[in-house]
Amino acid sequence: MTARADWIEYAREAVLHASVVCRSVQSRIGEVRAITKDDNSPVTVADFAAQAVVAHVLAQRLGAFVLVGEESSDFLKDAANDAQLSAALDAARVVWPDVTRDKFIAALERGHGEPNAQGFWTLDPVDGTKGFLRGEQYAVALAYVEHGEPVIGAMGCPNLPASFEKPLGTPDPTGTVYSCVRGGGVYESEAMLGAKPRTIARVARQPGAPLRVTASVEKAHSNISATDQVAAIVSPKFELVQVDSQCKYAVVARGQGDLYLRLPTKKGYVERIWDHAAGSLVASESGCVVSDVHGKPLEFGHGRGLEKNAGIVCCERAIHAAVIDAIAKVKAQSAG
Ligand code: AMP
Ligand code: MG
Repeated sequence: MTARADWIEYAREAVLHASVVCRSVQSRIGEVRAITKDDNSPVTVADFAAQAVVAHVLAQRLGAFVLVGEESSDFLKDAANDAQLSAALDAARVVWPDVTRDKFIAALERGHGEPNAQGFWTLDPVDGTKGFLRGEQYAVALAYVEHGEPVIGAMGCPNLPASFEKPLGTPDPTGTVYSCVRGGGVYESEAMLGAKPRTIARVARQPGAPLRVTASVEKAHSNISATDQVAAIVSPKFELVQVDSQCKYAVVARGQGDLYLRLPTKKGYVERIWDHAAGSLVASESGCVVSDVHGKPLEFGHGRGLEKNAGIVCCERAIHAAVIDAIAKVKAQSAG
C-alpha cells in the first residue's frame, strides 16, 4: 500500500506513546529484569509494551496494516511468565488505560507481520536494550518501507537531550522525537505527549574542528579499534562518541556528530531492518549519506535483514568517499 503523507503523524503519535511507556518503565529500572532471548540478546517488559502500544495506535489510525516488529508474543504467552505479562500490561496501561490481557497479546501479535514489496511498517520497540538497561540512550524506531526503501520514519529518543550542551551519557527528562517523510526534511520535538514538531536544519561542522565519530557502546556490535583507524585516516583530529541505539543516526542528522560507523565484528552478521529503517531515513533527510561499508545504499527489500549489505556508514556528504576509501585501506592492512 502506498504511504500517505499524514501517516507521519500517526507514526509520531505511536512512538511518542511508546516512549512514554519506556520512560515510565525506566523510572523503576531497579525492578526490571532482563529476559534473555534465544539469540542471547536481552528484552524487557518495555520492549513488549512498546510494541503492543505502537500496534494499538496504528490500529486505531489505520485499521489494516502490516507490522514487522522485533518482538514475538511466545514468551509472554507461556504461563510460566505470567508475572512478566502482568508487568508488561501495567507498563502499557500508562497510555492505554483499558488494555486487557487479550487486547495486549492481540496488539503485540499484530507485530508478527512479514515484509512484502508493496509496503509494511517495521519496528524496533526498544532499540539498544542494553543502553535502556544501563539507563543510557535507546530508541523506539518505527518506519514504513515501500518497494525496499524507508519512506516514513519516526524515532523516539526518550533520553536524548535536544541541546548539544547537555551530556549524551546522562538521561534527559524530556528527550526527543525525530520524524520524516522521504523528501520532506526532518522534524524534531520533545518526547512528551502533545509536543509540537518543528523542522530542524543540520548544523555543519566548523572548518578545522575535530571529526566527531559515533559508534556503539557494545564491543560486540561494532569494531572500535578499526573505527579509530578509519577516523584517523579521514581526519588526524577526531573524537569518538559512543552511544547506544539509532540515537547515533539522530546525533549525526542534527550535526552533533559527523560520522556514524558500524564496522562488522564478525563475518556474516546481517543487520536487522528495524535497527536501521527509521534512523537511516532521518539521517538521509538531514542531507547525510547512508551506505554500507562498501558505499552501497542500504537495501530494505530482502526480508528481515539487510542481506545485501555489510555494516553501516552514515556521514556528511563531503567525507563519504574518503570514509569508504579509509575503510578499504584499514581492511587491506588487517588482512595483510
Ligand atoms: P547499538 O546500540 O547501536 O550497538 O545496536 C543495538 C543493536 O545491535 C541491537 O538491536 C541488535 O539487533 C544489534 N546487534 C546484535 N548483535 C550484533 C552484532 N554482532 N553486530 C552488529 N549489531 C548487532
Ligand atoms: Mg535493535
